[in-house]
Amino acid sequence: SLPLLQEDNPAARQLGYVADAQRVDRTRFAQYAAGQTCRNCDLYGGEAADSQGGCQLFYGVEVKAAGWCSAWKPKA
Ligand code: SF4
Repeated sequence: SLPLLQEDNPAARQLGYVADAQRVDRTRFAQYAAGQTCRNCDLYGGEAADSQGGCQLFYGVEVKAAGWCSAWKPKA
């Protein structure tokens, strides 16, 4: 699998990516709702059972299934 996206990556920081959605900055991201994770985001490419997988926004890396960023979008 590909390397994991790091939270201090500039693009990750811009979108407020965290590897664990429990750590979302709810002051900065008031739109965050409990239960939102990469796993149930429309842009996530991992299989349901995987702990990490690709994201359409981040080339060459994988994101944690339990993660989140402000581009989160419900599955179509
Ligand atoms: Fe996770 Fe979706 Fe953000 Fe990608 S766009 S990092 S899958 S929440």
